[in-house]
Amino acid sequence: MAKLYFRYGTMGSGKSIDLLKVAYNYEERNQKCLLMVPSIDTRYGNGKITTRIGLQRDAVICYPDTNIYDYILNLENKPDCVIVDECNFLTENQVNELSDVVDFLDIPVICYGLRADFKCELFEGSKRLMAIADKIEEIKTICECGKKATINMRYKDGKAIINGDKILLGGNEMYKAVCRKCYKKYISRID
Ligand SMILES: [Zn+2]
Repeated sequence: MAKLYFRYGTMGSGKSIDLLKVAYNYEERNQKCLLMVPSIDTRYGNGKITTRIGLQRDAVICYPDTNIYDYILNLENKPDCVIVDECNFLTENQVNELSDVVDFLDIPVICYGLRADFKCELFEGSKRLMAIADKIEEIKTICECGKKATINMRYKDGKAIINGDKILLGGNEMYKAVCRKCYKKYISRID
């Protein structure tokens, strides 16, 4: 039985490295993986899954109006596995479509992404995956204090940024994965 997986982690937790490793394992067994990425992730140009260690792979772009189930249904050569990077940027409908890929086409779907944004609010795609995925797995990272990091803090000049657009475009603001307690410490530095 195929399953819908949601593997979440903070930024810098090695999600994309894990993703490419899973794809490699399938391909080593001569099985075909379909790699997908939402169009909104434009950090490295559209249609690429990129890792911090330099590995990269081409991926099919899902635009907000792409019906992922129809796309896969119409493929002449069906994949043995579907792997989605940055799945937090999927729409609720697209997560439903991926669940149809699992249930009606019997193809496993593995989604990698962030759970929540820098305001500690669930992303649309992640919220839906939390609700309907068969398996939810955390890819762990360590905060600077040694505890598990759970929050993608946006910060500038040593202070947490708590307002702004969901997607960061340019600017001097950066992200850091921290635990909840350290996040509060950074928040309290705001004057
Ligand atoms: Zn900490």
